[in-house]
Amino acid sequence: MTLEAGMVAPGGTVGILGAGQLGRMLALAAAEFGLRIHIFAPESGPAFDVATATTIAAYEDEAALEAFARAVDVVTYEFENVPGHTADVLARHAAVRPGPRALAVTQDRLHEKDFVTGLGIPAAPYVTVDDLPGLRQALAAVGLPAVLKTRRFGYDGKGQVLLRDDTDTEAAWRAVGAVPCILEGFVPFEREVSVVAARSVDGAFAAYDLCANTHRDHILHRTLVPAGVSPRLEQQAIEMARWIAEALDYVGVLAVEMFLGADSGPELVVNEIAPRVHNSGHWTIEGARTSQFAQHIRAVCGWPLGLPERLGRIEMENLIGSDIDGWRQILQEPGACLHLYGKRQARPGRKMGHVTRVFPEGGTAS
Ligand code: AMP
Repeated sequence: MTLEAGMVAPGGTVGILGAGQLGRMLALAAAEFGLRIHIFAPESGPAFDVATATTIAAYEDEAALEAFARAVDVVTYEFENVPGHTADVLARHAAVRPGPRALAVTQDRLHEKDFVTGLGIPAAPYVTVDDLPGLRQALAAVGLPAVLKTRRFGYDGKGQVLLRDDTDTEAAWRAVGAVPCILEGFVPFEREVSVVAARSVDGAFAAYDLCANTHRDHILHRTLVPAGVSPRLEQQAIEMARWIAEALDYVGVLAVEMFLGADSGPELVVNEIAPRVHNSGHWTIEGARTSQFAQHIRAVCGWPLGLPERLGRIEMENLIGSDIDGWRQILQEPGACLHLYGKRQARPGRKMGHVTRVFPEGGTAS
């Protein structure tokens, strides 16, 4: 049987940039399809334990990148901060999925906001900020409260400061490192939700049910599905994710984080796009017909997408830092699905694992 162009056959090798838990769970899903996994990262990490091959080299090491790209059939990644040049070097020798546009748009909060609003999708009001006088001007335009965010390299609340009436503007500017930023109006949200969805090489789109997310110390704490929003809003959220995926000519799994507005503003406001599998989609391993990891592998290999159908009512909880000490208790709980990432040190704020509980639909909350 001949393969269509860009399709990876079982036995082929998927290359992944990044060695964290997302890479690890992608590698495990790939193995179930008889694929081999080659991880490329600057240092060893959780994905190395389950990979067929590994490369330790800097993302700027062109010779290592070229050798890696030649050894694999497709390249994907588990984090959005893949340097543009790295992606360009890899793309000379192998398909890189999702493609470079997804990286360029999502790596920079200003580009991301311009892109989202350019599609007619609501985002928080925002102004670009390049220096302290610029911040003062932006505050006059956006008002308080507001959130100052670095344009690049922010995650889990890092690289951002909430400004209130009594916040020292200069201290806030120093706190984010005096680097190019955007200032965003604060969205008084009722709930944070995310759409985790996939798009295939031939443009098919499949979304999981909307996820409701709560955070602790800016880190995802818990995901509940269903999200408890009206079917109309859920459909609208999924349609926004579809527009975004289509406009990026996206291939793979992506997540779109949104706020559900609490007052008279827009009902749904897009906060961030993650061009990768996402923590709020971890529940799909046991809770959906096709996990987000299997779905991503299917998409980047040029395969048809699997069904995203949900199999019950979901609670997913992250195990952060010392939460991992509860592992024995979780193991005793019937039906609790424990995932540990194999990280040796449980530092505060470090994602050590997660637990998913799938209840019969309509069952009572625990
Ligand atoms: P981010 O890094 O953009 O995902 O932001 C991390 C968290 O900060 C979000 O999950 C929200 O809880 C909060 N946050 C970020 N931006 C805003 C905003 N414009 N208005 C209200 N809360 C925000």
